[in-house]
Formats: sequence, C-alpha cells, structure tokens
Amino acid sequence: MARLVMKFGGTSVADIARIRNVAQHVKREVDAGHEVAVVVSAMSGTTNQLVAWARETAPLHDAREYDTIVATGEQVTVGLLAIELQRIGIPARSWLGWQIPIRTDNAHGAARIQEINGDEIVRRFGEGQVAVIAGFQGLGPDNRITTLGRGGSDTSAVAIAAAIKADRCDIYTDVDGVYTTDPRVVAKARKLDKISYEEMLEMASLGAKVLQTRSVELAMVYRVRLQVRSSFDAPDAPQGNGPEATGPGTLVCDEEEIVEQQVVSGIAYSKDEAKVTLVKVEDKPGVAARVFGPLADNSLNVDMIIQNLSDDGKSTDITFTVPQAELARAEDVIRKAQAEIGCKEVRTDTNVVKVSIIGIGMRSHTGVAKTMFKTLADKGINILAITTSEIKVSVLIASEYTELAVRALHTAYGLDGE
Ligand code: ASP
Ligand code: MG
Repeated sequence: MARLVMKFGGTSVADIARIRNVAQHVKREVDAGHEVAVVVSAMSGTTNQLVAWARETAPLHDAREYDTIVATGEQVTVGLLAIELQRIGIPARSWLGWQIPIRTDNAHGAARIQEINGDEIVRRFGEGQVAVIAGFQGLGPDNRITTLGRGGSDTSAVAIAAAIKADRCDIYTDVDGVYTTDPRVVAKARKLDKISYEEMLEMASLGAKVLQTRSVELAMVYRVRLQVRSSFDAPDAPQGNGPEATGPGTLVCDEEEIVEQQVVSGIAYSKDEAKVTLVKVEDKPGVAARVFGPLADNSLNVDMIIQNLSDDGKSTDITFTVPQAELARAEDVIRKAQAEIGCKEVRTDTNVVKVSIIGIGMRSHTGVAKTMFKTLADKGINILAITTSEIKVSVLIASEYTELAVRALHTAYGLDGE
C-alpha cells in the first residue's frame, strides 16, 4: 500500500466526461489498495473568466476580493469529482482550503503556503475515504481566502503531499511527461523517464510550462517524488504502481536515483526576453553601479549582462536583458538616469530569445559550453549574451534562429530520439 496525491489540471477536469475519466484514474489507485488525496484545478478557462470579471468590474481592485472570486473555480470541481466518485462506489469528501486548513501568508493573489494540517485527511484514509482537495487556495492570517498565483494547484498538490507524507505526488496533465525539449519545435524530442529536481527547476523557470516553478522548489526541499503523466492515458492501462517509479510519464526525483546521467538532459528556450544596450558609456569605476543600482531599486530583474571591451579606453557598451513585460519600465528607469550614467544612446530589442542547455552532468564534464558555442557558430548564429550556472548555459540569440538553434543543439548533445 502507498499513500498518493493525484493532481489533475484544468484540461483534465474541463467537463463532466473528463471528470468521470479522472474518477476512473482515482478508482484504479483505490482498487490497488492505496490511500488517495486528489487535488484539482478549476475547469480550463474558468479562472481566466473569473479574473476577467474582477478586472472588468474595477481594473484596480481589492486583492482580498479578487481571491474570493478566483478561488471559486476549484470549489465547483471538487464538488463534482466527489459526487462522481461516490456515484461509482468510492467514499469521497471534498475539502476547500479553509476547511483543512491550508494556512498561507497574507500575500493575496500570490500567497505562500505556511502550514497544512493533514491529520483529519489521514484519519479518514483509515476509513477508506478519498480526500478531494481544492488546489490554488488557502486561508490567510486574517481568516480570509487566499490564492497562490496562477498555476498554483501544482504547488498545493506538492505541499499536501509533503504534509501527509505521501509516497508520491502524481501530476496528471495534458502532456505525457517532460521532454528533452519542446516537441513542437523538435520532432525528435524524447520523453525523459527521470529528471532531477535541479534540472526540472531550470526547465520550469526557463519556459517549459509543465509544472509551476514554485511546486518544483517545494518538491526539492521536501523531497517529494513527482510523477508527471497524462490524464488522457486510458485509466485501465497497465501501471507500475506503488511508491517506485511508475510506467508512464516522467519522474522528477533526487539525482541519486538517476542511474544513466546525460551531460545535457534538456534544452529550453524563452521568448520572453528583451535586450537593452547602453551605447558609449564612460569606462570608469562606478558606472555599472550607476546603471544597475536604479534598476534594482525599482525591483527590475536583470538576467544577462555584458560589458564590451572599450576600444578607445574611454567608453564602452553595456548590454543587459529583462523580461519583455518589464522593458518599458526598465527603459524609463534608464532614461531618467541617462545623464548621470553618461551614455550617448539607449537601444532596445525584443527580437531575441534565450536558449539554454541544462544538465547536472555539467558539474563533472568539461567542454560542454564549447560544444554549444561551436554548434551555433557552425550554423552562423551570432551569440549576443551568455550566462552560466553550475548546471546551465544560456545564450541570447536573434529570435529568428530559435528553431534552428534548438534543433542543432538537440542533435549535438545526442538527445535526438527515433
Ligand atoms: N485554476 C488556477 C489557475 O488557472 C490554478 C491552477 O490551475 O493551477 O491558475
Ligand atoms: Mg497547470
């Protein structure tokens, strides 16, 4: 017997037929003798609609009331799934965040979970009852409903798995696992059987949208084994059940569990980048501080930075990147400081993409970055900026080369499948 959390996203509960399908997945695990807590999202599209209604009423609105509104989508799906489970003979009960309770901080719209009391849920496992828990929501310090930020049900599921000491947290979604890269770009992308928390974290924050980044962080801290799999697989397909890795999907786990480690496990890309270049900045001590100080003071997140060599010894170019949504604000901050920085011109460019190679094998292998640079050079792709971390190398290139670069790197690191 194992204790499982099964999480189903919006597309998996989009209508009654799909909710019945979810119930069959739950039934399979219950019939196998497992204790099950299910976490569900709102029906796909519902949360967007709720957010739109709040904004339509008043663009600037009370965040506490926003949460009251957007948390309702999950109340519908937990009720429906509980009814369907009961209909097919499985004892089940729905739970909203405040009923457990799932305690969060006061950051309405982006709350963080602080404590979950799983005692009652675990007690009812003893009576054979399945818990159907609303994702995305919690209870703030002032006893008002909070929500965790978009995509937050993944985080709810992982936090509940940690609280009830589940053997595994299965994330059912509309893809069948985590791929070496975006299968829409590279036809030869392969599904990974296992990936480490660290790599998954990089993949998630670099644009692979399978899991909310925060849920992976939480899983890593509490060592919750995460299985990403498709809710569209037939519920009665053969399963490798129990706390061990199952047949279908991708297991996100400790790197020690991964026997055959690749040097590079995945390639991610993010189009959400914008490049800012300060042309002819005076080349003297204190300039970088004058540029990046005001950006930091305005909570602008700078990612890549390049300072060119100055050819005349007097001036230099500084280039950095920010998320596209923050470009206007960054430009504004820089223009205000332009006189003090002493730069001739500010140029911006949104036709850029950040391509990253990710792999824990980089810690122990040399020459990984070199292969990346050579592969891009062979294709005539110019690198505009570079950043690295222990398990990642990212380059900024012109966005028209995205597909070409990702495909070439996928081949260069031996990731191509059949
Ligand atoms: N329903 C919420 C959203 O759309 C939470 C989730 O689906 O994870 O963001
Ligand atoms: Mg999601």
